[in-house]
Amino acid sequence: MSFSFLKEADSELYNILMREVSREHDTLELIASENFVSYPVLEMAGGVMTNKYAEGYPGKRYYGGCEFVDEAENLARDRAKKLFGADYANVQPHSGSQANMAALMTFANVGDTVMGLDLAHGGHLTHGSPVNFSGQLYNIVSYQVLKETGRVDLDAVRDLAKKNNPKVIICGGSAYPRHIEFEAFRSIADEVGAFLMADIAHPSGLVATGLHPSPMPYCDVVTTTTHKTLRGPRGGMIMMGNDKDNPWGKVAPKSGRVKQLSELIDSMVMPGIQGGPLMHIIAAKAVAFGEALKPDFKVYTQQIIDNAQTLAQELLAKEYNLVSGGTDTHLVLIDLSNKDITGKAAEKALEKAGITVNKNMVPFDNRSPFITSGIRVGTPAITTRGMGIDQMKIIVQLIDDVINDAENEDVLNRVKGDVLELCKMFPLYDRFQS
Ligand SMILES: *Cc1c(COP(=O)(O)O)cnc(C)c1O
Repeated sequence: MSFSFLKEADSELYNILMREVSREHDTLELIASENFVSYPVLEMAGGVMTNKYAEGYPGKRYYGGCEFVDEAENLARDRAKKLFGADYANVQPHSGSQANMAALMTFANVGDTVMGLDLAHGGHLTHGSPVNFSGQLYNIVSYQVLKETGRVDLDAVRDLAKKNNPKVIICGGSAYPRHIEFEAFRSIADEVGAFLMADIAHPSGLVATGLHPSPMPYCDVVTTTTHKTLRGPRGGMIMMGNDKDNPWGKVAPKSGRVKQLSELIDSMVMPGIQGGPLMHIIAAKAVAFGEALKPDFKVYTQQIIDNAQTLAQELLAKEYNLVSGGTDTHLVLIDLSNKDITGKAAEKALEKAGITVNKNMVPFDNRSPFITSGIRVGTPAITTRGMGIDQMKIIVQLIDDVINDAENEDVLNRVKGDVLELCKMFPLYDRFQS
């Protein structure tokens, strides 16, 4: 893969692409939501299926010429179902946010009450932020984590649910280092007659390999991204453990038969909120799901967790405060309040030293989302490069060097050199190097 056509036709964009190839190679990618896809996934995502219009679903398209994209989408659905033990999968959402939009709009009407984890406590924008569609269409009641444990305050969730009678309760988040408590949420949802939606965008790769509990037995609907721990192309997906008659008794237009929930979700994705599906990305999802079904992928996800737990232990030994005191997953949320540096300043200094993280609010943060008191670090991407326990120890030392002397250019440059040495030992996309 040399990108010879691009190089010849548009050297300006070719050079931008090559600079991104180098950046990904030369830096330590610790953003918890990022990963590096395989060459086969890239080939499919960069392939000719980008040309195809295929509004509708396999066998029921509004366009001709869909026989091969149908095969690809069927495989994506079948592999997703196998991977997660699901009875139903819709692989068309363009992103995790669109998966959430379609799921919420299926289960709740505009104005209904929806509960989700507070953004400042690890939730996602689509779980009720006032600047997002979720906060604008629904009456949002946010729940939080307990200050002492950093874990969801389930008693408070129950009280809030009883008081507010939500139509939907969303569990899961973007900066939650612990297992999502599907079973406990189910009993709360049952007590108040709410639908339970799990958003496993972050841990889905761990769920797929059984290293994180499965939401399927407990949740009415499950959404995920495909590009985080699942290591596929950028996109979203909606699943259900089992497909039931819809509780509203909505009838299929022609047959007069009560529609299944799956039919309602399918029609909320398209035509509800999307038009033509991204067939190249759906086919690339199928490729990634095929990879995730192989035994190697479980070895990979176990290493992600081992690496995150090593990061956590090493950070604790250097007196860093971690939200919830550690991690069960691929991510660690560091509270820098005792370190005399803001999340924003830490992110910036680390970036100068070749280490990419994101600033993040910590629960009960007294700084704004633009400054924050924390950083979030994750291991999926560096684990994909092949890094293990020994490298985690080195990385924590490098992070600590930067945090303790964030304005010292000499330190930042020295760390940057060490980062580069480490990266060279774990090559990434070397077939793309110009
Ligand atoms: C990343 C994420 C999403 C949204 O994914 P996009 O593809 O960026 O829209 C949704 N929910 C959670 C919990 C996430 O972490």
